[in-house]
Amino acid sequence: GEGLPRPDETRVMVVANQKGGVGKTTTTVNLAASLALHGARVLVVDLDPQGNASTALGIDHHAEVPSIYDVLVEGRQLSEVVQPVADVEGLFCAPATIDLAGAEIELVSLVARESRLKRAIEAYQQPLDYILIDCPPSLGLLTVNAMVAGAEVLIPIQCEYYALEGLGQLLRNVDLVRGHLNPKLHVSTILLTMYDGRTRLASQVAEEVRSHFGEEVLRTSIPRSVRISEAPSYGQTVLTYDPGSSGALSYLEAAREMALRGAPTPNGVAVLYDGH
Ligand code: ADP
Ligand code: MG
Repeated sequence: GEGLPRPDETRVMVVANQKGGVGKTTTTVNLAASLALHGARVLVVDLDPQGNASTALGIDHHAEVPSIYDVLVEGRQLSEVVQPVADVEGLFCAPATIDLAGAEIELVSLVARESRLKRAIEAYQQPLDYILIDCPPSLGLLTVNAMVAGAEVLIPIQCEYYALEGLGQLLRNVDLVRGHLNPKLHVSTILLTMYDGRTRLASQVAEEVRSHFGEEVLRTSIPRSVRISEAPSYGQTVLTYDPGSSGALSYLEAAREMALRGAPTPNGVAVLYDGH
């Protein structure tokens, strides 16, 4: 899959939802790999102390590895911590190590505590088409750093009971950050995850999300798939673990939609993807 339009400027996307287990990390790594396979240069920033995105990308992130903690708290350069992802050309990762768990507290007393990630990204010299930031399941200073660094929020929503519960809080936080710290911030993309088309519940939730958010919701939804959930234990995304699987194909398609939606046009207005 070559030939997708590349953005004029790096698109920095904050993958957030303060609920755990909705598919943030899975979506971050698989969309990132898909975009890279489509020919883009992509950096994943792992901002969750669990380091699940680093694990899923097969990136070494034991305690001694230079990590995003060093960037945020110690003021290290992003270029000193970024590692290439094996097997996927154009894909890179800034790993999280366990010390990131303390950063939420340590950041409180630091200068420019909300904009440390933004500054690190601005100082990063490598050309990139996308930066995907995998957020922890909370709305603390790590997530605020992501929201100050990026313009776009991508919300994965699991097609389950209470899917929309708690989203109000996330959306209010987006508004707060936009009002005080980052006027460009907006929810650009909603992705339905773990979608089981056989159940009425899933289609009802999908319907509800689409009527609530409208055009932000990608037409592609991600099916529930065992292959997607198996891939991380091999340090792989589903794109290399099982490239022909429905999970891999759906992430490739979601990435294509994202790229086409964000594509610049001559008059500078983004074109909405029409499904073709
Ligand atoms: P979060 O980062 O929001 O906590 P994860 O991406 O870690 O969520 O996903 C939570 C769990 O659900 C993981 O075990 C993951 O493997 C699994 N999972 C995510 N997406 C899918 C999917 N489409 N099909 C099957 N399992 C999935
Ligand atoms: Mg996660």
